[in-house]
Amino acid sequence: MDKNEMRGNGGNRPSGQTFLILLIAVTLSFFIYSMVRQYFGRVVPTEISYSSFLTMVEKDEISRVEWADNQITVYPKDSASLRESADPGSLPEGWTAGTGFLTVVPVNADAAALVERLYSHHIEILKKKPDNSGYILEMLLGVVLPCIAIFLVMNLMMRRMGGNGGGMMGVGRSNAKMYMQRETGVSFKDVAGEDEAKESLVEIVDFLHNPSRYTAIGAKLPKGALLVGPPGTGKTLLAKAVAGEAQVPFYSLTGSDFVEMFVGVGASRVRDLFRQAAQNAPCIVFIDEIDAIGKTRDTRYGGNDEREQTLNQLLSEMDGFDAGKGIMVMGATNRPEILDAALLRPGRFDRRIIVEKPDLRGRVNILKVHAKDVQLDDSVDFEEIALATSGAVGADLANMMNEAAITAVKHGRAKVNQEDIFEAVEVVLVGKEKKDRIMSKQERKIVSYHEVGHALVSAVQKDAEPVQKITIVPRTMGALGYVMQVPEEEKFLNTKAELHAMLVGFLAGRAAEELVFDTVTTGASNDIEKATRIARAMVTQYGMSEKFGLMGLATEESLYLSKGTVMNCGDDTATEVDREVMRILKECYEEAKRILVENRNALDRIAAFLIEKETITGREFMQIFEEVKKEAEALPAEAAVESGIADA
Ligand code: ADP
Ligand code: MG
Ligand code: ZN
Repeated sequence: MDKNEMRGNGGNRPSGQTFLILLIAVTLSFFIYSMVRQYFGRVVPTEISYSSFLTMVEKDEISRVEWADNQITVYPKDSASLRESADPGSLPEGWTAGTGFLTVVPVNADAAALVERLYSHHIEILKKKPDNSGYILEMLLGVVLPCIAIFLVMNLMMRRMGGNGGGMMGVGRSNAKMYMQRETGVSFKDVAGEDEAKESLVEIVDFLHNPSRYTAIGAKLPKGALLVGPPGTGKTLLAKAVAGEAQVPFYSLTGSDFVEMFVGVGASRVRDLFRQAAQNAPCIVFIDEIDAIGKTRDTRYGGNDEREQTLNQLLSEMDGFDAGKGIMVMGATNRPEILDAALLRPGRFDRRIIVEKPDLRGRVNILKVHAKDVQLDDSVDFEEIALATSGAVGADLANMMNEAAITAVKHGRAKVNQEDIFEAVEVVLVGKEKKDRIMSKQERKIVSYHEVGHALVSAVQKDAEPVQKITIVPRTMGALGYVMQVPEEEKFLNTKAELHAMLVGFLAGRAAEELVFDTVTTGASNDIEKATRIARAMVTQYGMSEKFGLMGLATEESLYLSKGTVMNCGDDTATEVDREVMRILKECYEEAKRILVENRNALDRIAAFLIEKETITGREFMQIFEEVKKEAEALPAEAAVESGIADA
């Protein structure tokens, strides 16, 4: 891909700049020349006026003259006698014997008469060719050579300084990172999942292929398409794929490339970009992370002149170009809600293509795409991995596949097996194992009970997902232990009961700690955060609380970046909401405790296993769980009560 990546025409030095450097060089060398001449220059004859020359002739003070064109060099007679006889003032300053004076003959003076006159005063006349050779040489050495030298040095300096950003002189020139790719080498085959997005893009490929088919019928071609979706879902990849499929050049620039310190730079970059694109149509102009310039202009915090100018330029360029030529502007962003409305209106980015997080099938296909060049073992089952990675985007999955291959190499295997991939999934999701961190015995016990508490509650509740594995090996991303859950199928909707079960599951870790050790630790902070977020969403967004019913109390701040929500209700209501959230959490916590008390036997047995082995698989977990259940059923009714609830 890098091979045919080349700089756009913008990389050439603009001629205006060269001219400027040349001008500076010429001025500078003339200046230097005159300075040097002033101090070391050759002696130039003092000039006298033509009239004083005539006076000297009349007074017979001149012995000979050298006549070259209209210049006459005058050599006076014996200097001493001359000084006495001459009128004061008729002799020029700085006169020394033997040196001549220079005088210039007026243009319309009668040369023949002058010759006659000189002759009558017995003055020797020497006719000379004007001699400019010395002068030419001097100019050559004194001005032209330094000029060239200065020019070269400055040019070199400019290039150094200007490397990419254009430097001082290059400000306003878009030679920054504007990459034109003749062929992106990416096709739709390389983008898995995202079938809907691809479908809309196929149309765009067709526009670029044969625009005439559309214009013939009178249809106006769309000018721009905006790819919208969470980070890592393949927006950039899709844009490249469109260029690859249409086999047109691909101009790409990131939004932030436009925005520089100086006002007006971005605007001129936009102009440049479109000028180049117009020369190379049909082509695709891709502006990645367009929110950097396309931010809505009416912000409360005052605008940013540079960004606004850039945006305005972009808007007017998009209006200006002729879509019939086959220029397609594509943008990508994960914050569509902050884009300026003017960008989104018809005639600009009028097509919006949603690039969603991949679903189960999408994830399987993405894994397959990235496993294309990886040697796989028979044990690999992409379905299972895809199930375990709900919520992962293409970039994550690509990363996982690569990690798996590296893991396989580390273990000295020639092929990647399922375990490698699962290990990679863990690495991507919770970080690497931190083997050197040694937990005390008590800590291991607490962590074990905490994690088993989560898993056990999930297993007991019918609505919750079964457990894949539990470990208490600390991870680099901060987890001391964790429960890996693999859903049986992918869910797009959650019922209220499911959310409730989730809450109970999240709080079960803390419940187990309190139940067994009669104390609580800091280990539950993450659980508490997640549980609170869900409970709050139930109240404010999902309309799942009796108290507030269907009232929407909060809005999502960003659709794709999960930045949190903003409350849009009065202060009093917000207080009420907090109270309601608190109530829900408390209820769920009590339920978690109740479930654990009822299953105390299983909790102890599984925790003991985990403390010893550090890791327990889902199968081992269920085995112990079933065993305990059977034992309890075998016992008489009172005994069961004794072994379970009696503890509470
Ligand atoms: P973004 O949406 O943030 O622009 P990118 O297009 O840069 O994401 O994706 C980053 C990488 O993730 C890609 O280079 C590719 O390897 C991988 N990837 C993302 N989505 C997909 C997909 N749908 N199919 C295949 N690979 C993908
Ligand atoms: Mg991107
Ligand atoms: Zn926990």
